Amino acid sequence: MKQLFKVCTIAAVVAASFTTASVSAAEEAVTQILFKNVNIFNGIDNKLYKNSHVLVEGNLIKSISTKDIKVNSDAMVIDGAGRTLMPGLIEGHGHINMNGSSLADIENNRSWEELASRGVAKADMYFKNGFTSWRDAGGMATGLKKTIDAGLLNGPRIYPAGAFIGPTGSHADFRNYTTPNETVYGANSAGSRLGMTFTADGVDMIKTAARQNFMQGATQIKIMSSGGVASAFDPWQLDAYSATEIQAAVEVADAYGSYVMAHSYSKKSIMRNLENGVKTIEHGFMFDAEIAELMEEKGAYMTTNMHAFSPYLGQIEAISSSPAAARKAASAQAAFGDFVENVNKYQPKFGFHSDCVGGVDSCQKQTAYEMSISAELLGNFFTLKSLTSVNGEILALSGDVLNPYPEGKLGVVAKGAYADLLLVDGNPLEDITVIGADPQWFDAKTREAGDIKTMRIIMKDGKIYKNTL
Ligand SMILES: [Zn+2]
Repeated sequence: MKQLFKVCTIAAVVAASFTTASVSAAEEAVTQILFKNVNIFNGIDNKLYKNSHVLVEGNLIKSISTKDIKVNSDAMVIDGAGRTLMPGLIEGHGHINMNGSSLADIENNRSWEELASRGVAKADMYFKNGFTSWRDAGGMATGLKKTIDAGLLNGPRIYPAGAFIGPTGSHADFRNYTTPNETVYGANSAGSRLGMTFTADGVDMIKTAARQNFMQGATQIKIMSSGGVASAFDPWQLDAYSATEIQAAVEVADAYGSYVMAHSYSKKSIMRNLENGVKTIEHGFMFDAEIAELMEEKGAYMTTNMHAFSPYLGQIEAISSSPAAARKAASAQAAFGDFVENVNKYQPKFGFHSDCVGGVDSCQKQTAYEMSISAELLGNFFTLKSLTSVNGEILALSGDVLNPYPEGKLGVVAKGAYADLLLVDGNPLEDITVIGADPQWFDAKTREAGDIKTMRIIMKDGKIYKNTL
């Protein structure tokens, strides 16, 4: 009873610290939370470290031990009772503020305040489902990030790419068929006015666009270096940016100590991006032995939306609403036949990527399904690693200067790492559904955000946001 009271008291203090920005640094510094009797999935190893104790001090993990850890008299003690303590989940490629039913819907039917308020709801949903960090792959998000960091909204730590940059007619070109392309900002497109997309051709325009993104708070640059499926003007086979154009983006990112992430499908495009300094290949569906070798040589990563291999892919509204996109999706799926086999064989550095551009309910379902199909095709451990330590490494590529969270590592349970932690019932290495994965996609039951009963505690930055123990 006494301990329960103590837990409640400290929980109240923790909760109060969200609303009282004036809590002194000294008061916060002494906050200790001890997780006793937990099995640790550390984000890196294919095993659980049994019967362990983890001490969180302030916003970082202070120590990990199988022996008792001494704590202050006012420390909060949580008995994990053999549950699994693991890193908070990290989205490696999402679009938090892109939340219409299709690219055309976002371009034509949504005002900025509707997109923004839907973005808030989406950030809240992902956070309640255990996503404590988020790499945004383009379409604004620097403003939402600042608002979350200021403590005004709950949500993940965001690493925004700002507006994605692509050439005329590319995957980043949201204009209508007859819209003139007047400037680097594509002044007549809603997407470009909102800072969601840049249509940029040639070295100078690409450099300006990349610099503008950094000026507005981007932590990395996203280029649309090949065609895609859900966009209007481009075949997915398109090798969209030339070597010198890719180099221009990489040169600006280098100058900021950061990196370029490139949307890239075809082999030619993937190789060209890697050869010219791109650090993360997005989608990368033509991945094979030669690409694996070059990725290793360059220390590059790949993130892939595994739901692209689903038999249900055609039911995504952005695809089902467009016969042209449906045809593109079918030809792409046919061409990417060896991807899964190659990833399992060559084991690239691979980040989790759900790539949802829809609303709250559709993204919740898509992300739960993405975890499930990834585990089914690539294994539970590979998927869990992609959701935690590998995506943590990818976030750190934004460099010492631009990384907004430089105090510790993300995506691992390790001494000195950020205390972004989940406590879950069961063992996710054996059963991926305990972190919310769902083998059903469009047929899945609609659930309330955060209604994952096996996810008992969500902690971010040393603060507890959910506790159902
Ligand atoms: Zn994307």
